[in-house]
Amino acid sequence: MKYAIIGAGLAGLTAAYELRQLQPDAEIDVFEADERIGGKLYTVPFESGRTDMGAEGFLAFRKDATDFFETLGLKDTIVAPSGLKSLFYCGGNLHAIPMGGAMGIPASSKGLEGLISEETASRIEAEKDQPGIDWQPGKDMSVGKLVRERYGDDVVDHVVSSLLGGVYSSSADDLGIRATIPQLAAVFDKMVAEGEKVTLAGAVEKLDAARAKMREAAGDAKPKPVFGAFKDGYAQLYEELAEQSGAQIHLDSFISGIKRGPGGFRLEKAEGVFDRVLVTTPAPTAAAQLRTVSPEASAALKNVKLASSVVVGLKFDSAEGLPDNSGILVAADEPGVRAKAFTLASKKWPHLAERGGALVRASFGRFGDDSLVRANEDDLVDYALDDLQKITGFDGRAAGLSEIFVQRWFGGLPCYNDTHLETVAAVRAALESVPGIDVAGAWADGVGIPNVIAGARAAAARLVK
Ligand SMILES: Cc1cc2nc3c(=O)[nH]c(=O)nc-3n(C[C@H](O)[C@H](O)[C@H](O)COP(=O)(O)OP(=O)(O)OC[C@H]3O[C@@H](n4cnc5c(N)ncnc54)[C@H](O)[C@@H]3O)c2cc1C
Repeated sequence: MKYAIIGAGLAGLTAAYELRQLQPDAEIDVFEADERIGGKLYTVPFESGRTDMGAEGFLAFRKDATDFFETLGLKDTIVAPSGLKSLFYCGGNLHAIPMGGAMGIPASSKGLEGLISEETASRIEAEKDQPGIDWQPGKDMSVGKLVRERYGDDVVDHVVSSLLGGVYSSSADDLGIRATIPQLAAVFDKMVAEGEKVTLAGAVEKLDAARAKMREAAGDAKPKPVFGAFKDGYAQLYEELAEQSGAQIHLDSFISGIKRGPGGFRLEKAEGVFDRVLVTTPAPTAAAQLRTVSPEASAALKNVKLASSVVVGLKFDSAEGLPDNSGILVAADEPGVRAKAFTLASKKWPHLAERGGALVRASFGRFGDDSLVRANEDDLVDYALDDLQKITGFDGRAAGLSEIFVQRWFGGLPCYNDTHLETVAAVRAALESVPGIDVAGAWADGVGIPNVIAGARAAAARLVK
């Protein structure tokens, strides 16, 4: 069987590896437009050591992902974080991130002191007395719209958008509840099914209670770290996948379309005829590639918008004066600060601290506003240093800035808005009438590393049938 995989990011390489496991004698060709593999995983050779400038961690409680890394022989390369807390920067001050809640959506105003007004605090406390939310089971709703209506703007702008934006590069207004906080949508569905009045505080309270129960069941067991990372960066993963897949990887191979003809599928701008094709490119590219074989899937995919960001990696000679925290999320409406977040990487990850000095990643850019992503490199470095000093007092220039890397991610993340899941379902339904073609990747399966891996493995299993 001959397989073509378009895109050598995590989805494409995972699918290639999985196909090899499922069908050892398969012929697998991976076509990658870039001159390197990895896509949004990108480990850069800093002089001080290999450093991630795209994704840097993964959710370590996803056992399917950690088992997969173990199968690849990467168990000993996985490292745990320090456990230092992250902070919010809001109203010119640093604040602890409130415990509990659903991506910053609280069940009560407790712990939000300093982040929201007294009026908002009273609204949160009284929310359960309001008429219920008109929640349609199975459907979705904008996170920002709902939280603004029920609690008030400052919960969205100071808390929820910062937390969700850290994952999706989009504000809460541009993200769907079911698409990004599915556990909350599931509680809403259940409340409707049981004839209960649907309120935000009531639903989040149920989530908090379920979590408390899980903690109780775990007893004294030491909580496992939420995140994990690769000691020498994600290159360890994508290089291993490429190697173990035994696939023929064609770099600098931009695929513009797929055609079905006698004997199988042909890719525009590539040699060969294939029995099966897996598309793992970002949504707008996938839309273009599918336009001939599935105009319906292509049309649906055009609904997916992308969010851009830029990561500025800064290596300092000294860490003196840098707070003992893993990172800082900046409130979406904070005046006079351009950065949206700082990862204090050498505080967050002990293996990076061992390199000496300090490593900081500053992130800029939100959905709908590319201006900072397009700013010139010197300006971005200045913005990062100025904002870091303003927020933490750490003077990066005085600390000695020895290495800089600026990585722009144009269209780096799909926007999981309140129609996204419907779009993905429409694409999958349309592709059912085109046997031999499948899709995987961040827009199809979820943006987190474990989701992308699970989606790509499932796609490979479907393709071999
Ligand atoms: C800045 C940033 C930080 C992130 N941090 C984290 C994190 O810490 N933890 C986490 O879990 N997730 C994180 N993510 C998300 C995660 O990295 C991505 O969801 C995941 O890597 C996407 O993998 P993919 O294979 O679906 O897509 P991609 O990585 O985008 O791969 C698609 C590939 O297709 C190629 N391609 C595009 N067009 C063509 C064409 N015409 N022909 C051939 N090839 C083409 C691209 O060059 C690319 O290599 C982050 C994302 C970004 C942008």
